[in-house]
Amino acid sequence: MARLEGKVALITGGGSGIGREASLLFAREGASVAVVDRDEAAAAETVALVAAAAGSKQAPAVAVTADVARAADCEAMVAAAEQAFDRLDVLFNNAGVMLGADDDAQTTDEATWDTTMDVNAKGVFLGCKYGIPALRRAGGGAVVNTASFVAKVGAATPQVAYTASKGAVLALTRELAVIHAREGIRVNALCPGPLRTELLMKVLDTEAKRSRRLVHIPMGRFGEAAEIAKAALFLASDDASFMTGAEMVVDGGLTAAYVTPE
Ligand code: NAD
Repeated sequence: MARLEGKVALITGGGSGIGREASLLFAREGASVAVVDRDEAAAAETVALVAAAAGSKQAPAVAVTADVARAADCEAMVAAAEQAFDRLDVLFNNAGVMLGADDDAQTTDEATWDTTMDVNAKGVFLGCKYGIPALRRAGGGAVVNTASFVAKVGAATPQVAYTASKGAVLALTRELAVIHAREGIRVNALCPGPLRTELLMKVLDTEAKRSRRLVHIPMGRFGEAAEIAKAALFLASDDASFMTGAEMVVDGGLTAAYVTPE
């Protein structure tokens, strides 16, 4: 049986990378999916991909345009999912940004800090603010928040705003998991390692920068969005029924490493 049969999932950042792969995978596993992105065309493209991949039994997807840094948009995206599919069972707070001007404490400007925190940390808070009541209305459900390996280890190639925002996601995940543990609402975080997606490749835009990062990954390659989507599926499904408040690291061994293979 499909692992999300009859469920309704809302996926933010669904227009690209992890969010797009998760939309495709969750739909394949039986979920109706609200694909949320601030980029309207990207969300619509994901919905078209879901439709193109649809088997005869596959549930539908809808595109929803929303900026997760805005409360009104988050309220509206949850309402749109419930309106389209009558309920919400899975909330995947995945949208995130990594800005080129993000650096060390001295050089990172205030606007870069604020934008990063608004999307990556406040966006998860707002998703939960409006999404958790919807999960409760459905009788329980699962929240998956995308953090990052950078919330667990420091780097001399700094991005202090991004790192702090992902630390906030882990702390928020833990607390919400405890608050809602007896309501049948599980809240877990994903910590992906460096991935070959738009977000990171925009920043690692030279061979030298990519090689510098690869040195730290024991597997010697970037991860794929589809590999993270599979971990998100596990956390979103009943397979993870005794897991809450956890941090699932999917990073090619990066955070386990002291010295990597030559
Ligand atoms: P991506 O850039 O491929 O996709 C991110 C999507 O989020 C885009 O479609 C973008 O339009 C959307 N988005 C950005 N800001 C938004 C906002 N305010 N409201 C709504 N949508 C918004 O990135 P990705 O690699 O798939 O990243 C997804 C998540 O994974 C992010 O939270 C990111 O921080 C995290 N992550 C990525 C990596 C990596 O190496 N790529 C590693 C660890 C964690």
